[in-house]
Amino acid sequence: MDLLASLNVEDLPEQQTRIQTLFGSCSDDPAFNQKKLGFDSCCTCGKVTPKVECQNCHRVKYCTKECSHNDTVPDMTNASSEYDGDDDDELGVEHALGHTSVICALLCICNDDEIVEGADKKELSTLTTDRRNAATDRVVSEFESYPATLANVIMEGPCYQEVLQKSTKSKTLTIHVIGSSTDSELWEGHPDKMQERNVFSCYADALAEIAEKYKMDSILIQFFGPECPKKNIDETFDIPPVQAKKSMTKLRVQTQNTDYDGSVTSSNEDQSSPDILVFFNPGFTCPDYDWEKTLASCMKNKQLPFLVTTNTEMEALADMQYLFDRKLFQDISPTLQMILQNNDEEHDIDNLEDDDNNDDDDDVSSFFSLNPYCGLRVRQSGTMANDLYVKSRWLFGGISGPLTREVALSKKSESSSKRKRVVGENANNKKANPALV
Ligand SMILES: [Zn+2]
Ligand SMILES: [Zn+2]
Repeated sequence: MDLLASLNVEDLPEQQTRIQTLFGSCSDDPAFNQKKLGFDSCCTCGKVTPKVECQNCHRVKYCTKECSHNDTVPDMTNASSEYDGDDDDELGVEHALGHTSVICALLCICNDDEIVEGADKKELSTLTTDRRNAATDRVVSEFESYPATLANVIMEGPCYQEVLQKSTKSKTLTIHVIGSSTDSELWEGHPDKMQERNVFSCYADALAEIAEKYKMDSILIQFFGPECPKKNIDETFDIPPVQAKKSMTKLRVQTQNTDYDGSVTSSNEDQSSPDILVFFNPGFTCPDYDWEKTLASCMKNKQLPFLVTTNTEMEALADMQYLFDRKLFQDISPTLQMILQNNDEEHDIDNLEDDDNNDDDDDVSSFFSLNPYCGLRVRQSGTMANDLYVKSRWLFGGISGPLTREVALSKKSESSSKRKRVVGENANNKKANPALV
């Protein structure tokens, strides 16, 4: 990510709110989980109604100046563990760094993005043209990440290849995007009115390569969800040609303002049965939503390729665990299986990364990876003020339902690669990504 490179950080720091010390003092407090650290309670000690905010980013609150200061001071326990990787997972060691200068700088950037998004003329005038343009690019890159992720990951992901091959014969491909909403995959508007584009034409552009490669007559994307537009949309677009002289493929998009229920497939003429299921940042374990019925209807005992994106690595693991426990997703690598089966124990996931030389998992079509097509916009968590995320930064996918074949847990699997990278090293390289132009 160029932005992170400019701040001299290699990787986006996702969870940096220190909670270890709070667990000791507040874990008996039933209200602890309701607390919004750094918002309605002090980010350092957890006390309610904090009055002091970071004077630089104004996005993290503390009860006193002392607490504010303490959150920026490195924790000595933590500092020593940095040199001693082996002890990293010992209980009591805080991994989170608190309100570091990098976190503060990234939160300042969130302010710019929100000003551009809010489009208030007075506030916009406080930004220099450069800052305004940069924020506009970030906001737009998040919009465009939805079509780019959908099209490119389906094109490259191992579990989708069979349905793509079939679509060459059947001439159509039907994709269900479940839990869609107008402020994410069905975004509206644009921070710069001069550049405003229709969201669906963006999907059409992103799908150009796939349409031409598999010579489909039509691609149907159906968006479902209670946060879809009130009035259902049904429109058809030409997918632009890549090398062909003229457009050969139509994109039909339909939105349905309804909870998804796979069982309506036969009774509802408007809903074709899907070839691929897509979930953008669903939060399966989030108590605000009830995914149980929806997922049972579309994934249980059905072998369908699916794609899930999440905002953080932790969420990706939680969502995989959720699907795995309900036998909705069993076709996973032995390594991942071990992680999900032994979830009580802490596993050092980092040990499993970057180990692409191992071929143990080659018979598994599922994958778990950073999303090279996510946007550049960094957002602040709403519940822990030093936690940052990028929408759809992580993704995983595979075939739904129970296992169809035996997976032997080999001895070697312990060291094998959990992450199949759907793409190479060009993560976030927009130049290598035609859909993000
Ligand atoms: Zn405090
Ligand atoms: Zn700050």
